[in-house]
Amino acid sequence: MTREPLSHLRRELAAKLTELRHVLEPAFENEPVFPGVVTVSRHRCGNAGCACTREGKLHEAVRLLIKYKDGYATRCLSEDEVTSFRPRTEAYQRIRKARSELGKWQKSVVELVDRIERERRSLEGLGEEDRKRSLR
Ligand SMILES: [Zn+2]
Repeated sequence: MTREPLSHLRRELAAKLTELRHVLEPAFENEPVFPGVVTVSRHRCGNAGCACTREGKLHEAVRLLIKYKDGYATRCLSEDEVTSFRPRTEAYQRIRKARSELGKWQKSVVELVDRIERERRSLEGLGEEDRKRSLR
């Protein structure tokens, strides 16, 4: 096992605190959220005379993917509805990302705390027999 200077580990830990503030920013927002995604789909309608068949200019439809507990649903959106839903779905993506980043953050801090604990470990006072056994 390679020894790590404690000062280095403490600097890393302090940086993690700063990182946490950044990770949690979306959770401090006031913006309403909506569990879904606004997507643009492009398709051909199949009519021989249409620009989508003649010139390859595909039709665009803006759809809302709604995330329900038991599955997904999609709805077509008008321009006004896009204006209404898009900010809420974007705020939703941000808070979901924060949640997943928080999970990674926690895992990395637990590992860091473990490294700090190993670094601060002292076997002072243990007899020779006890020293031979590996500690948790
Ligand atoms: Zn068409």
